[in-house]
Amino acid sequence: MTDKVHLGHRARKRFGQNFLNDDMIIDKIVTAIDPKPEDNLVEIGPGLGAITEPVADLSGHLTVVELDKDLAERLTSHPFLGPKLTVHQGDAMKFDFSSLIKSDEKLKIFGNLPYNVSTPLLFHLFEFADNVEHMHFMLQKEVVKRMVAGPGSKAFGRLSVMTQYYCHAMPVIDVPPECFKPAPKVDSAVIRLIPKKPEQRSAKSTKLLNTVCLEAFNQRRKTLRNSLSNLLTAEELTSIGIDITLRAESLSLQQFIDIANWIYDNKQ
Ligand code: SAM
Repeated sequence: MTDKVHLGHRARKRFGQNFLNDDMIIDKIVTAIDPKPEDNLVEIGPGLGAITEPVADLSGHLTVVELDKDLAERLTSHPFLGPKLTVHQGDAMKFDFSSLIKSDEKLKIFGNLPYNVSTPLLFHLFEFADNVEHMHFMLQKEVVKRMVAGPGSKAFGRLSVMTQYYCHAMPVIDVPPECFKPAPKVDSAVIRLIPKKPEQRSAKSTKLLNTVCLEAFNQRRKTLRNSLSNLLTAEELTSIGIDITLRAESLSLQQFIDIANWIYDNKQ
């Protein structure tokens, strides 16, 4: 068998399949999730069930969203695990997570995410922030670094601003390539995300906040006067209290929100 075959399944690169194969790391992830029988748990990309199984042992039931038909079928028909799962075969990026809310119980979402689609998937998940208690995701370590980066750091960008707008974000553990089968080419890390309350999120339009980030970081070497010139004049930026000689990487989350809200109030 090649190292691409794990538990009788040939890993599919196009689905970002790198299966966890390290009991200590799996234990640490499950401890961070802390599953309880009353929890409304959701796993994205359960794969061969490395995290699913220990979580289901503790919670009794969980919902999983898996794109790979063979793996979804394998989980559904698993003699012990299958009865504990509600399996949705499909793309998590198109999945309506709010449809899983049946009572007051918010969702606890987790997954070893497919790295090839992790950023758009995270942006999709942020839209359900009000339905979620917490999220734990294995990601490329570099993505985790970007999510938690603050102003002044090279890693600070649109992903940092949007992550920190929606969530409190904390790295949990670093995970080396040899903990997976097949081993990815990059280092990995687990992040814990706790959505902020709606009253802690003051952007009048998250779409506009995202647009401001896109423009500002698209030309991150330029000063704000130039990088944001499609959206505001230098005078307008100054009137909001923004130093137009700075670059995007120097702005705080609140300043990005102030710019987006000013555009919303004055130009929409
Ligand atoms: N959870 C397993 C583990 O830790 O061993 C598998 C993790 S593997 C990195 C990513 C999983 O996500 C695979 O099972 C893959 O088929 C699935 N996947 C890929 N793209 C997906 C998508 N858009 N929606 C749902 N699942 C997806």
